[in-house]
Amino acid sequence: MLRAGIVGLPNVGKSTLFNALVANAKAEAANFPFCTIEPNVGVVAVPDERLQVLGEISNSAQIVPARVEFVDIAGLVKGASQGEGLGNQFLSHIREVDAIVHVVRCFENDDIIHVAGSVDPKRDIEIINLELALADLAQIERRIERTKKQARTSKDAQFEVSVLETLSAALNEGKSVRQINLTEEEAATIKGLGLLSGKPIIYAANVSEEDLAAGNEYVEQVRQIASQENAQVVIVSAQVEAELVELPEEDKAEFLSSLGVEEGGLKSLIRATYELLGLRTYFTSGPKETRAWTIHAGMSAPQAAGVIHSDFERGFIRAETVAYKDLVATGSMNAAKEKGLVRSEGKEYVVQEGDVMLFRFNV
Ligand code: GDP
Repeated sequence: MLRAGIVGLPNVGKSTLFNALVANAKAEAANFPFCTIEPNVGVVAVPDERLQVLGEISNSAQIVPARVEFVDIAGLVKGASQGEGLGNQFLSHIREVDAIVHVVRCFENDDIIHVAGSVDPKRDIEIINLELALADLAQIERRIERTKKQARTSKDAQFEVSVLETLSAALNEGKSVRQINLTEEEAATIKGLGLLSGKPIIYAANVSEEDLAAGNEYVEQVRQIASQENAQVVIVSAQVEAELVELPEEDKAEFLSSLGVEEGGLKSLIRATYELLGLRTYFTSGPKETRAWTIHAGMSAPQAAGVIHSDFERGFIRAETVAYKDLVATGSMNAAKEKGLVRSEGKEYVVQEGDVMLFRFNV
């Protein structure tokens, strides 16, 4: 399962956001398997309107969305890479995640102290990115030391050292690994290092409720930085999301429309996190359940079947496949079959976003 780490300076709204994520997941827990692994880890459903539609077509007893794991990684302060605050412990937590959600404070409130004295997204982002880059630099230097010895006799080691030296120079210029253009071969060489500043990132601009609809000048600062890194920005209001959790279902829409929005940003954030890693969804749908399965772009039909169970991959024969939009347009599986829209696909078939699939396999 994809794991995203929530990071940011203290008092920017990380925990508020994380708690809202988990509370929402718990509220929906009646409909899908939910678990809290540790207090700071929550499993969250990926919102997908297609599930409801498919569930109605198949008259499914149950709907099971795709899931993403969120980890609240507290404790990043200036100097973390030198061991300040929770320091190294914090950094090792980030090493384990697939993607980073960086919460940036874009709301003003004199009662909530900002660790650096004022609201300034550009400075905040630079503080965090610098800590991640410094941690990477230290790791790269150690790696260079070790690999240099082997480089006397090994071409591969020589290549690795040259890649590491390029990275080191760029990091010293204040860049993140994310911003460095690497060939596939170069990227493969350093993959195992799990460099922090190379992880895909989303900036969550945390605004107060009155700025949720239109954003503000702070959000623009975040956007500017993100565009230089090819990163995405999602506007969210942790406080609005926290308030929504407390409201009865029937009052939620009215509260949101009074703010001029349809949601508090949490759904968009989950969706964006899911898409950040090039993940795709295919569906299985029947009377028992309609379910979303997560695959990587380019996976073949047997590989996609293997996500359900390894037996499905090993014994794969064929897959009956219909595109989501074709199934919805015809209204039922039988109608789609009559129109010739349900195809029988073999081992070479590359599964497409939104395919609805039924696997035939030997056990
Ligand atoms: P963390 O240290 O980053 O985990 O920050 P917290 O989630 O504990 O939030 C710090 C304080 O800011 C809390 O008192 C929150 O209620 C408040 N806060 C968080 N998000 C918002 C927001 O969007 N608007 C406002 N006005 N306050 C917020």
